[in-house]
Amino acid sequence: MSIADNIKAYTKELNSIGVKLVAVSKTKSNEDIMEAYQAGQRIFGENQVQEMLEKQEALPKDIEWHLVGHLQSNKVKYIAPFVSLIHGVDSLKLLVEIDKQAKKHNRVIDCLLQIYIADEHTKFGLGFDEAIELLESEEYQKLSNIRIVGLMGIATNTENPKQIKEEFYELHTLFKGIKASYFRNQDSFKEISMGMSADYKIAIEQGSTMVRIGSDIFGQRVIKHYKNTEN
Ligand SMILES: *Cc1c(COP(=O)(O)O)cnc(C)c1O
Repeated sequence: MSIADNIKAYTKELNSIGVKLVAVSKTKSNEDIMEAYQAGQRIFGENQVQEMLEKQEALPKDIEWHLVGHLQSNKVKYIAPFVSLIHGVDSLKLLVEIDKQAKKHNRVIDCLLQIYIADEHTKFGLGFDEAIELLESEEYQKLSNIRIVGLMGIATNTENPKQIKEEFYELHTLFKGIKASYFRNQDSFKEISMGMSADYKIAIEQGSTMVRIGSDIFGQRVIKHYKNTEN
């Protein structure tokens, strides 16, 4: 199927159940993104700051850009003018920097706390206790130009669906606990970003509100070896 066909199929499947689609376009060309755009897609995810900047510059201005990968504090300033959601917030330090840069542009930037749910050491994220600690901290409570709208997690890359299911279940459970304790009256705290090409169906069963799909829409990525793989 073409990129446009894939977008249409996903949109049909997800719209009926109220789950948002983030089309993860990292490493893909502007032409590929435009094909998805013409098929109606408006939310695109990138994991490299430089790449997102170049695409944002060149492509239609009604695209909502989501930063889905790990973000280094010193790069926040480049995306602060336009980014619509930062999925990978994994420290108070990063949140403080996002707040500072958002202020300069008179914006409130929406963020998700990335929670570590995988059984792998390579993935970023906050532990459950660390997430609570962040939300309890005085420094966090002073921030006025960021808004935490939910949680994000990446499951273990495994063939074992039971394990993936348990990890997503844990994330949903933590979401409910945090919602009840810290965001009870805030309707904006409502997103659980979980699910990628290989595991989005399990994620949806476990309560995902936002799936991040790359290869299943755009085709396999050619693996690039960046010198600096972190943002
Ligand atoms: C690349 C990436 C995705 C998309 O992965 P696919 O398996 O291609 O769907 C989703 N989330 C994050 C954080 C990513 O880096």
